[in-house]
Amino acid sequence: MSAAEALKVARAAGVRLGIDGDALALEAATAPPPAVLDLLAQHKAGIIALLRPANDGWSGEDWLSFFDERAGIASSAGRLSREQAKARAFECCVVEWLNRNPVRSPPSRCLGCGQTEHSRDPLLPFGTEPTGHAWLHSRCWPAWHESRKAKAVAELATIGVHGPGTRR
Ligand SMILES: [Zn+2]
Repeated sequence: MSAAEALKVARAAGVRLGIDGDALALEAATAPPPAVLDLLAQHKAGIIALLRPANDGWSGEDWLSFFDERAGIASSAGRLSREQAKARAFECCVVEWLNRNPVRSPPSRCLGCGQTEHSRDPLLPFGTEPTGHAWLHSRCWPAWHESRKAKAVAELATIGVHGPGTRR
């Protein structure tokens, strides 16, 4: 069982969880079953990591619930198989991660190859206005964008959000 699953089991048993400094804080109306407490003790570090928000403002748990929500929408609205719905949900997570972790760069140098602008090869702004732009040559953008997506996939994997075909 993963920390994320242990967290779900505890929630289902009526335990409210939070973090208090470096410790896991529990709250429950009635004493949780010993099996649930054992599970929490066993996955304590992983659960704390899931509940702590990262620089982009979302905790691992936020990502997992976003994934579940998207997968639910995809399977009910899109009539997709479970695997297809998961794949769609994972794509949404990657897009959301990229939106939440924008890259800004000065317009004087290409972020891909590190070269300056040439008359035949202008630098173009990629990204959206509120978060600023990353400046690249158009030919450098596809590789750079792929590397950003790979980064998103790797970061999501560390919090237990996996794409299709990867082992859980
Ligand atoms: Zn370039």
